[in-house]
Amino acid sequence: MIKDNLLEIKNTLPHHVTLVAVSKTKPDEDLMEAYAAGQRIFGENKVQEMVGKWERLPKDIKWHMIGHLQRNKVKYMAEFVDLIHGVDSFRLLSEINKKAEQNNRTIDCLLQIHIAEEDTKFGLDKEELNAILISEEYHQLKNINVVGLMGMATFTDDETQVRREFQQLKSIFDTIKTENPQVTILSMGMSGDYQMAIEEGSTMVRIGSSIFGKRN
Ligand SMILES: *Cc1c(COP(=O)(O)O)cnc(C)c1O
Repeated sequence: MIKDNLLEIKNTLPHHVTLVAVSKTKPDEDLMEAYAAGQRIFGENKVQEMVGKWERLPKDIKWHMIGHLQRNKVKYMAEFVDLIHGVDSFRLLSEINKKAEQNNRTIDCLLQIHIAEEDTKFGLDKEELNAILISEEYHQLKNINVVGLMGMATFTDDETQVRREFQQLKSIFDTIKTENPQVTILSMGMSGDYQMAIEEGSTMVRIGSSIFGKRN
C-alpha cells in the first residue's frame, strides 16, 4: 500500500522536484516499507521521534526536520540532521551554527517564510528575511548553509488563495536567489496542494498522508 502510493506520487513528480516522505507519528515498519521502495529522505516534526528513528533505521536515510523547532532541541539532532526546513529566527540559526560547529559539520537550513493568513503558522516576513540576509552576524555563521526557503499555505479550500500564497513565496525566492547563489531549494507543497505548488515553482514537496495514510 505505502509502496504503491509512493511510486505513484514519484511517477508524477518532475525530475527537478525532491520528495520528502513525511513519516511523523508513523512506526518504523511504515518507513521501512517506503525505504524498500527506494525512498531515502524522510521528514519528521518532533526531534525526539526523529532521533529514535535515526538510531534504529538504516544510516543512509536523510532526515529532514520539518516542524517548528525550539533552540534547546537542536543539540539532539546536530550530529545527523540533513536539512532543517523551519528556521524562523536569527537566534535559532545561530544556535544551529553553534551545534554544527561542535559536531564539526555544516548544517543546511531553509528559512521559513510566513505566507498563510492564519496567525498560527510560523515564519519570517520579507523584511525580516532581508534583515537577516544582509546582516554582518549572519555572514559570520560558518557552520550553517541557507540553501533555500520553506513555506506553508493557508489550510483552506480556496485554491485561488493557496495559489496566490505560493506565488508570493516563489517571488521572494527568486529575489533572494539572485544575490545568494547557494539558495536553490523552494520547499512548498503537502499532500493536498503539492501539484499546485509544483506548478508555482516548488523544488521540494513534503508529503505525508498521501503516502502513509491518515495520521491519528
Ligand atoms: C505534516 C506536515 C506535512 C505533511 O502533511 P500531509 O498533509 O500529511 O502531506 C508537510 N509539512 C509540514 C511542515 C508538516 O508538519
